[in-house]
Amino acid sequence: MDIVVDKSCSKCGQIKSLDYYHKDKTKRLGVSSACKTCVKSSRNNDRKREYSKEYTIRNKDKINDYSRRYYIKMTSYEKRLAEHRKINRNPSVYKERKAKSRFKIDDVYVKQVLRNANINISPETIQLKREQIKIKRLRKKLKDYVKQKTTGTSEQ
Ligand SMILES: [Zn+2]
Repeated sequence: MDIVVDKSCSKCGQIKSLDYYHKDKTKRLGVSSACKTCVKSSRNNDRKREYSKEYTIRNKDKINDYSRRYYIKMTSYEKRLAEHRKINRNPSVYKERKAKSRFKIDDVYVKQVLRNANINISPETIQLKREQIKIKRLRKKLKDYVKQKTTGTSEQ
């Protein structure tokens, strides 16, 4: 008769000596099919599952409230996102917004201009560049104004 000393675990498949298995007289080898480690971890999982089930039951209202709030938050976010996409997909609205941001000469716009110029960006350079842009715009405005005036008079 062969004396069985090692057995492979039905769960993890590792070959372990019989000491690593719980005794089970109903089984052929007199030990359970899964090793002690696997039995323990599956018990722990059962406990965790049990705990989360209990937790869900005990905090049903809290969870419902949370999911409701989360749902509202998400739907309003999605709505805003859809709105934003709609606006950006509309070229005229997008252009208008871009023009407005250029008119304001905000830091983002100035930085963008400076980045193209490949200059070291500091608050002073931003301020200087902003002034430069303002002057440039005024000059252009003046030029356009003069042009309009002169072409206007020559046509008459
Ligand atoms: Zn195992």
